[in-house]
Amino acid sequence: MAKRDYYEVLGVNKNASDDEIKKAYRKLAKKYHPDANPDNKQEAEAKFKEVNEAYETLSDSQKRRMYDQFGPDGPQGFGGGAGGPFGNGTYTYSTGFDGFSDFGDLGDIFSSFFGGGFGGGSRASRQNAARKGADLRYDLEISFEESFLGTERYVTINRRETCPTCHGEGSKPGTHPETCSVCHGTGQIKQVQTTILGQMQTMRTCSNCHGTGKVIKEPCENCRGKGTVRNQVRLSVKIPAGVDDNQTIVLRGEGEPGENGGGKGDLYITVHVKRHSIYTRKGNNVLCDIPITFTQATLGAELKIPMVDGTMENYRIPDSTQTGTKFVIRGKGFKNLNGSGQGDFIFQVVVQVPKKLTQEQRNLLVELAKTMNEQPPVKKRGIFG
Ligand SMILES: [Zn+2]
Ligand SMILES: [Zn+2]
Repeated sequence: MAKRDYYEVLGVNKNASDDEIKKAYRKLAKKYHPDANPDNKQEAEAKFKEVNEAYETLSDSQKRRMYDQFGPDGPQGFGGGAGGPFGNGTYTYSTGFDGFSDFGDLGDIFSSFFGGGFGGGSRASRQNAARKGADLRYDLEISFEESFLGTERYVTINRRETCPTCHGEGSKPGTHPETCSVCHGTGQIKQVQTTILGQMQTMRTCSNCHGTGKVIKEPCENCRGKGTVRNQVRLSVKIPAGVDDNQTIVLRGEGEPGENGGGKGDLYITVHVKRHSIYTRKGNNVLCDIPITFTQATLGAELKIPMVDGTMENYRIPDSTQTGTKFVIRGKGFKNLNGSGQGDFIFQVVVQVPKKLTQEQRNLLVELAKTMNEQPPVKKRGIFG
């Protein structure tokens, strides 16, 4: 894939001052910092890399001149290519980089990413940094009535939990993990590299302790040194009245345990509401069709309307009600999840044409039709018979 123009990457023009370049870079580095984009880390990381690469060249007057003259590929191929000082092989971002409300200094960004080369801080992913536990997902199907009234349900989830035998330490009871003798507990090993910018100090994950800074000599038998075990857990979930299809209930801290003192993850329960044979939902309103006879429509009637909670509401429809007319029973819809108030119950009457009539009923209708000056119905035995 062709590289994007560095000026384009930073969104500045070719004559931009050093200050403008610096400003543009700060803004973009902040925007694409992988820690600020937990939902699309990979994409953000790629952008972040691109932005860093562009800045790395354009902030250096000599490199910028070369870039303007030869473009990204020549004559030496600067930037983040394999030959560059920040070749792909050494790039990782720090998961332990905590928070960044604002960059006090550009050096801070570089120190978290590229180690001693710029600011003198540390680099490499810190395995022993505090990490929040994994979030879990669960899909829960409930009935229309349950979504209307609210309910309490039990869900069984499979999750990692802190090992009860070693309390998460991973070592046999009575023993404790020891500080790694290779990295002295830091989890990282310093390396000095010679690059075109001079000597650069980088940090690598310690291979003796895999970056944890600790070595377990006698692993706990229950968790085999992992500190966590898989468990089936039954949890009660309160479903509030008014919850809608595809809404998510979050149980904070019911995810998996964190590492190195990081907090527990969360459990996200997505509610799926089953379709109902009579009712549908629109916003907080309940909709339904109520069949009525043609005489009820004509003469008016006292109807019994079944509510979602199982009760009946009496409702008087006026005479001459046309099919498809909608009536509203106020405050009998879904509860508003985000505050007070309740939707309405809206029913639409559907006039049924009788399929079978007794002879008497038929005669009555014929008489009625005559008075209404309608064409009388064709006789059953045929006009010509
Ligand atoms: Zn254990
Ligand atoms: Zn170590």
